[in-house]
Amino acid sequence: MDILLYILIFIIGTLFGSFFTLAIYRIPKKQDITHTHSYCPNCNHKLGFLDLIPVFSYIFLRGKCRYCKEKIRPRYLIIEILSGIVFLVVAYLMDIRIDNLNYMTLAEGAFMALYLCFLFIMMGIDKENRRVEKSVSMYGIILSIAYIVYLCVVENASIYRYIIYLIFIILILILDTITLKKYAKNSYVHGVILTATTMAIFTGEYVTINTIIMTSLMVAFNLLLHKIKNIRKRVRIEEKNYGKDIRYGFYLGISNILNMIFVLAWYKFFI
Ligand SMILES: [Zn+2]
Repeated sequence: MDILLYILIFIIGTLFGSFFTLAIYRIPKKQDITHTHSYCPNCNHKLGFLDLIPVFSYIFLRGKCRYCKEKIRPRYLIIEILSGIVFLVVAYLMDIRIDNLNYMTLAEGAFMALYLCFLFIMMGIDKENRRVEKSVSMYGIILSIAYIVYLCVVENASIYRYIIYLIFIILILILDTITLKKYAKNSYVHGVILTATTMAIFTGEYVTINTIIMTSLMVAFNLLLHKIKNIRKRVRIEEKNYGKDIRYGFYLGISNILNMIFVLAWYKFFI
């Protein structure tokens, strides 16, 4: 019976993934993500039900728009499948089963799903535009506050642990408002710091420290690869400028998901 539950969770994950692709495309363009009907970005044709089934639509349409035959980027398919897999793996490791489905596991599962929304959308937008969108950060913060309230009220956790994070978030937001007034644009660094703070609230300090270490390694590896490529091509591109192109939010997100899965697996199998 659990197999059926996990198939359902995978399908829910791909549906979420389908929403992520839409949000990643629309949020930076300041378009509505809940009301406007899905459309093809090339011919603007409204998409029907058969065009919107995650994974299957892409395969049946052979990666092309039904109306204008324009190629759909494989990114859509990749995000849907990845999201389905992450939902499935996390649910399995969180020990969500039919015989222990109660309000508690459902609430934990729902918070995790909403947190994964934050991660996927933040990562996708950063990968595409090198930007941590303010509205996405705010979503993360509101979700964090809701989670803290839940932990304190339902699970009787101590609130003191979290107060320091909340103060920190408020400080960064004030700083960000000042830079916004001064330079007329949101600071990328502030966005990245807010993202890491949201991670600390949801996945704990241990996972977050490992996430930051793994992110640094990924960035260093990336710089190294870039340098080797340059030496091979015998071109010299200023390293300083290349550093301005690194997607820190994207790497943070990937590291956070991997570390979270690792810790959940550790608890499930070894403790
Ligand atoms: Zn089209």
